Amino acid sequence: MKKIFILLGPPGAGKGTVGERLGEIFNLPLISTGDLLRENVKNKTDLGIKAKEFMDKGQLVPDEIVVSILLKRIKEKDCEYGFILDGFPRNINQAEILEKFVTIDKMKVIYLKADDEFLINRLSNRRICERCGTIYHLINLPPKVDGICDKCGGKLIQRDDDKEEVIRERLSIYHNLTSPLLDYYKRKKILFTVRGDGKLEDTIGKIIEIDRNNG
Ligand code: ADP
Ligand code: ZN
Repeated sequence: MKKIFILLGPPGAGKGTVGERLGEIFNLPLISTGDLLRENVKNKTDLGIKAKEFMDKGQLVPDEIVVSILLKRIKEKDCEYGFILDGFPRNINQAEILEKFVTIDKMKVIYLKADDEFLINRLSNRRICERCGTIYHLINLPPKVDGICDKCGGKLIQRDDDKEEVIRERLSIYHNLTSPLLDYYKRKKILFTVRGDGKLEDTIGKIIEIDRNNG
């Protein structure tokens, strides 16, 4: 049976890291609309060029752009048995569009909860390997050598939108546009809340338990 996890939560709550682990455990592809958009920006596709101006400001990319990227991706063969969504849907309209393509009874929405102060600290200290994508935190998870990836020797960079003013904008957009999805999914009885600010393994354990107890 098809299984769809939706990771919902503010920027920095760990959707990417949690999603990667869940992908390994459930053997499902992780689909991050942020990553798909950044790939389009890097390759300077038409969609990427349009998306970049919104992303740099921390604003949402228009729904038609994100939706077209997402639908194309979930039609691929590896999504046959389901997938994990990181960063989609991000507003009510996107949620409604998604339901035209997958039925609600296949979905479990995992809400990764964390407060703004924690998120600002995590995001402003986040650095990413330019080559392999490994994520570091300057204080909690620093690389052995300053600015260099432990795993591959690649250079560590800061995402353009991990600058403090942009982080604040992303959080305010989250509170205004994305957090209404919590009520939306609660009413549909598919919302499950876990901590986004705890240990990764605890969070993963909770999600496995939720999955087991909810068919
Ligand atoms: P985060 O969740 O940490 O803010 P993402 O990598 O998910 O970061 O997203 C980065 C940017 O990509 C967002 O600020 C937004 O501009 C754009 N984006 C990603 N997913 C969506 C989406 N579903 N709808 C609109 N914009 C999106
Ligand atoms: Zn690396």
